[in-house]
Amino acid sequence: MSEISRRDFAKLAGAGGLGALASSGWSPFAVAQGAAKVVIVGGGAGGATVAHYIKKDAPELDVTLIETNPIYSSSFFSNLYLGGFRTLESLNHAYGGLGRLGIKVVHDTATDVDTSKKMVKTKGGRSYRYDRLVLSPGIDIKYDSIQGYSREVSRIMPHAYTTAAVGKRQLKQQLLAMRDGGTVVLVPPNNPYRCPPGPYERACMIAHYLKTRKPKSKLVILDPKKAFSKQPVISEAFERYYKDIIELNLSTEIDDFSVASLDPKTKEIVTKAGKRVKADVANVIPQQRAGEIAVKAGCTEGDWCPVNPDNFASKKVKDVYVLGDAAIAVEMPKSAFSANSQAKVVASDILADLAKKERFPARYRNTCWSLLAPDDNVKIGANYAPKDGKLDPSGGFVSQKGEPADVRKQNYQESIGWYEAITADMFARPVAAAPPAEQKKGG
Ligand SMILES: Cc1cc2nc3c(=O)[nH]c(=O)nc-3n(C[C@H](O)[C@H](O)[C@H](O)COP(=O)(O)OP(=O)(O)OC[C@H]3O[C@@H](n4cnc5c(N)ncnc54)[C@H](O)[C@@H]3O)c2cc1C
Repeated sequence: MSEISRRDFAKLAGAGGLGALASSGWSPFAVAQGAAKVVIVGGGAGGATVAHYIKKDAPELDVTLIETNPIYSSSFFSNLYLGGFRTLESLNHAYGGLGRLGIKVVHDTATDVDTSKKMVKTKGGRSYRYDRLVLSPGIDIKYDSIQGYSREVSRIMPHAYTTAAVGKRQLKQQLLAMRDGGTVVLVPPNNPYRCPPGPYERACMIAHYLKTRKPKSKLVILDPKKAFSKQPVISEAFERYYKDIIELNLSTEIDDFSVASLDPKTKEIVTKAGKRVKADVANVIPQQRAGEIAVKAGCTEGDWCPVNPDNFASKKVKDVYVLGDAAIAVEMPKSAFSANSQAKVVASDILADLAKKERFPARYRNTCWSLLAPDDNVKIGANYAPKDGKLDPSGGFVSQKGEPADVRKQNYQESIGWYEAITADMFARPVAAAPPAEQKKGG
């Protein structure tokens, strides 16, 4: 077989993709010495999906997924754990499904990339050669972006904003231990950051917990921004459900509610305009940047990794792709939905590239749901396509103020279905049945 026509390629892709070619005995992916090697660093929303889709469509490719943790604890839906709508365990996902597909899942931390030798090194002392490298390491926290904050202080004032389960558990335990009448302080970050509506869904979930369990308590938000994602519908929920609990302080031109410093001993937080709040529980979410391995690979420019919107190939390093939160795809928000959508384009681009076949136009999509109160869920989303070196949004939609309760309830059911579907897609396992009843109700 020499050339595959565009129509044949599409037919094959529809009928099991390039894997169908492989099972016919012909491999488009052989390189000089054996099957091409694809190494993926980071087994989250972006990386796990890339591994799944490449191996599914091209079983003869040598696919290695390097992921630090044996269990992925999703950040998405972690606010529901804080609100009492889900257990911490329900956020956990293992890598068995990807292993059973034939992906080499290595639980180790990638510490360096030699892009001239095309080699990834790990903390465990191993080296992995690649023909194509995919980086989806998510975010690292910029601990020094707030005076007084540090990795050590994050144990007292957790950010709970990464895949580490420990931060989520600490924050929840602090809320459980707090006296009724206490003050929770929530410090959201400045743009750009992981999950734009995340801190505000979290505010609703914490406030729901306080309202139902510790109604004399307060939640003070000290925000460096003037505005935030889904603001009309989230502000409506603050007013409707949590009027006596949430105090929202948005910054103005003078940046007044940016946090200037904090003291982990007294738990006092001071803003640039001099407002002082003493917290019983402080959830401080600092600025963020691309995961360290992207820096080591030379893929960053400032805090994030510039990429080609056609395929999420790094603009800085050849044969390396960066996707998910580590990439700066300005118009697309940093979300699990976005990362999963980008992953499918990356997988298909790598397969076309290795087989030296035609690439198809990239199409991306995002939807972000936020739970505001029991059965009251709002969403925002859009489609994206490359245009003039950027990602052009179209077909955008966002929940509106005053929507009927059944619309919001349907959004919630949709979001539960999405969580099951995306995690099944990431970890190559069948979609589970409806979640247990106790995960559906709050309190
Ligand atoms: C509170 C909160 C709520 C959210 N809600 C939503 C939501 O409702 N919908 C939505 O779509 N998104 C949501 N998100 C955002 C979503 O979690 C992220 O956008 C998504 O996880 C990004 O995927 P990723 O692959 O870039 O990173 P991650 O999913 O974080 O995966 C990165 C993985 O890489 C691993 N890793 C990093 N460095 C290395 C290394 N050097 N070696 C080996 N492994 C490494 C990490 O252990 C991690 O498992 C939310 C986030 C938060 C914090």
